[in-house]
Amino acid sequence: MKIFTSKSEIKEFLSTQKKDKKSIGFVPTMGALHQGHLSLIKRAKKKNDIAVVSVFVNPTQFDNKEDLDKYPKTYEDDVALLESVNCDVLFFPSVQEIYAENIVSDNFDFDGLEYQMEGKFRDGHFDGVGTIVKTLFEIVEPDTAYFGKKDFQQLQIIKKLVEKYKLPVKIKGRPIFREEDGLAMSSRNTRLSKEHREAAPFIYKTLKKAKKKFGVKAPEELTKWVEKQFKKHPLFELEYFTIADEKTLQTVTEIKENMKYRAFIAVFAGDIRLIDNIRLKNN
Ligand code: AMP
Repeated sequence: MKIFTSKSEIKEFLSTQKKDKKSIGFVPTMGALHQGHLSLIKRAKKKNDIAVVSVFVNPTQFDNKEDLDKYPKTYEDDVALLESVNCDVLFFPSVQEIYAENIVSDNFDFDGLEYQMEGKFRDGHFDGVGTIVKTLFEIVEPDTAYFGKKDFQQLQIIKKLVEKYKLPVKIKGRPIFREEDGLAMSSRNTRLSKEHREAAPFIYKTLKKAKKKFGVKAPEELTKWVEKQFKKHPLFELEYFTIADEKTLQTVTEIKENMKYRAFIAVFAGDIRLIDNIRLKNN
């Protein structure tokens, strides 16, 4: 695997690959890699000639300095995992390389997608995400980029970014990878206390129960039911649960036919914030 830390060097390498008509699949990450990331990389590898992964903990998408400072960094393990799935190229730039002296985001208009859910609770988050993903796309110029549905709102926002700026890249959303007990894989899981980690499957269990009740209970009633389950739980604090339209990400009060809905959740386990979501079926 080739490892680059400089924008100009990776650009130069990839431009020779493109001249040879090699297709490029790209997976942007913040490192501390797990099987969820690897599933995206394997897909990128399977569908393209070259798989490129970036590892960059993007400061402008964090509104909480402690969360940024404590974000897990496991560079040696990441390199070993990337080699185990035959990743071709790793881009591992410094903050200086990406932002020079000006560590700020651009402002984006994502047609309102940015004001829902994560956007309500993480100030400036999607401006930070838009800034880094657009920058990385300009450096890597991938044919296709792969994103997990674990961050479903982010996936929709990236699709909007590509549409608005007419970026020449295809965006693919991929399934959520879970631990055996159902907890959605996340780099932050390693920071959970033993007690919180053991209790954490409660989040997905509650989502699955909500999925069963969807269509029987109205969205607002179902939301109240989920809120009650978390109030009763001694270890978790619910930040939000909402049932939203997959396209607009707006909370729904009424279920219509031929629409796609999803339940979204954000939960504090001590000071670790976990998110998850599940597809709902209206029948
Ligand atoms: P991150 O390193 O958390 O920024 O994630 C990098 C990419 O991996 C994003 O597209 C995430 O949605 C995706 N990802 C993270 N966790 C999972 C998971 N459990 N299953 C599938 N994709 C994931």
